[in-house]
Amino acid sequence: MPKKIKIKINKEACNGCGTCISILPDIIEFDSNSQAEVKLEHKEKIIDDPQLIEQVMLAKESCPTEAFIVEIIE
Ligand code: SF4
Repeated sequence: MPKKIKIKINKEACNGCGTCISILPDIIEFDSNSQAEVKLEHKEKIIDDPQLIEQVMLAKESCPTEAFIVEIIE
């Protein structure tokens, strides 16, 4: 499991299924086009909490279109 990560959403690939939002409701939301978006206060934020990283990796694995991207920093 990585120690430090960042979340990115590829909007061109996102189909708006909402799976990642249901797993990470505090971090991801729908934008005005009903696509997933990292909330403003979490944009470009480095995540280093192990439990949260586990949830993020689950969201990544659950994304049907690979639009949910995890950038591994460490
Ligand atoms: S799980 Fe993937 S396709 Fe579904 S809303 Fe999230 S980023 Fe978009």
